[in-house]
Amino acid sequence: MKTSLYGYRLNELVELLSSRGEPKYRAKQIFDWIYKRRVTDVSEMTNLSKSLRDQLQHDLMLTSLHEVTRQVSSFDGTTKFLFALADGATIETVIMPHDYGNSVCVSTQVGCKMGCKFCASTLGGLARNLTTGEIVEQVVHCQRLLDAKGERVSSVVLMGSGEPLDNYNAATAFIDIITDPEGLQIGQRHITLSTVGIVPGIYKLADEKRGITLAVSLHASNDESRSRMMPVNKAYDIASLLEACHYYYNQTGRRITFEYALIKDHNDNLSDARKLAHLIATVPCHVNVIPVNYVPERELKRTSIEQIQAFVNELQRLGVNATVRREMGGDISAACGQLRAEHANGRT
Ligand code: SAH
Repeated sequence: MKTSLYGYRLNELVELLSSRGEPKYRAKQIFDWIYKRRVTDVSEMTNLSKSLRDQLQHDLMLTSLHEVTRQVSSFDGTTKFLFALADGATIETVIMPHDYGNSVCVSTQVGCKMGCKFCASTLGGLARNLTTGEIVEQVVHCQRLLDAKGERVSSVVLMGSGEPLDNYNAATAFIDIITDPEGLQIGQRHITLSTVGIVPGIYKLADEKRGITLAVSLHASNDESRSRMMPVNKAYDIASLLEACHYYYNQTGRRITFEYALIKDHNDNLSDARKLAHLIATVPCHVNVIPVNYVPERELKRTSIEQIQAFVNELQRLGVNATVRREMGGDISAACGQLRAEHANGRT
């Protein structure tokens, strides 16, 4: 597979071009074509010489995502794409329109090896990591669609399929590229990376002092329950995870977001809420309570709306900053991995 032009940071593109005897400003010109004018073909880059365009076309690729299906929610305009990659693997990307702007949810891997018991993305294991270019192109593709409406991608969440910290270099290069002031200019503060809780990755991210929000999939108030649902907890238990969260906050000044999916009779009673409040009492944080999404292959029951509210109220009563995550695209299988799983099973 050729390397994608979307896989280069600006300084890397400068190096690539200077190794071919091209001046520095060429890299900025190319960045301009791909991120500001959002062309889909190198031949459109008319201020580059014909020979440079030919070279780029020969050695690199630009677009590699092929839209297989697009579903638009009639409830809230959430748009979900299933993309085929150059090797035929498929991934999902979602655009969620909010009153404050459009948020894009990107995938970072084809499948996932984390094995969380409630998640559709991990059902077939990990096929491969996405390249930096494949992650960046998901955002560019969404921006092109929004261009028609004169709108922008205003925030990005790394919450699609895959574990971003299991594809660390590509995930962080992706963040560098989409935040570049010469490119898409998405603010660091408008990026959220969600992790299953890979502790060494959290330390590394903290030491790089990015201004992004770290979301941690906690989903339990004790190790026994978390290990049952999330095998990663056997490698990095809750205590070590929370220590890493403290470190992240101290290094970056960014509050942690904890994600807590409520599963009926597993982790949703008020004593769980109290244990959770106690556990995270010293971490500057926000808790996102998520009603678990239905996954046909998993036997999970949803907590009732009343119980979800009672759970959140209990957290708030104990001083925890908690909200229920608004569900989007309820009519279009917008939950993680659902569309891809349906496609693989011949249901789309
Ligand atoms: N691997 C990363 C990011 C991908 S999943 C992580 O684990 O955080 C994004 C979020 O969706 C995670 O919090 C994940 O636990 C959650 N999730 C997965 N399956 C779900 C389901 N069926 N219902 C609700 N949330 C789910």
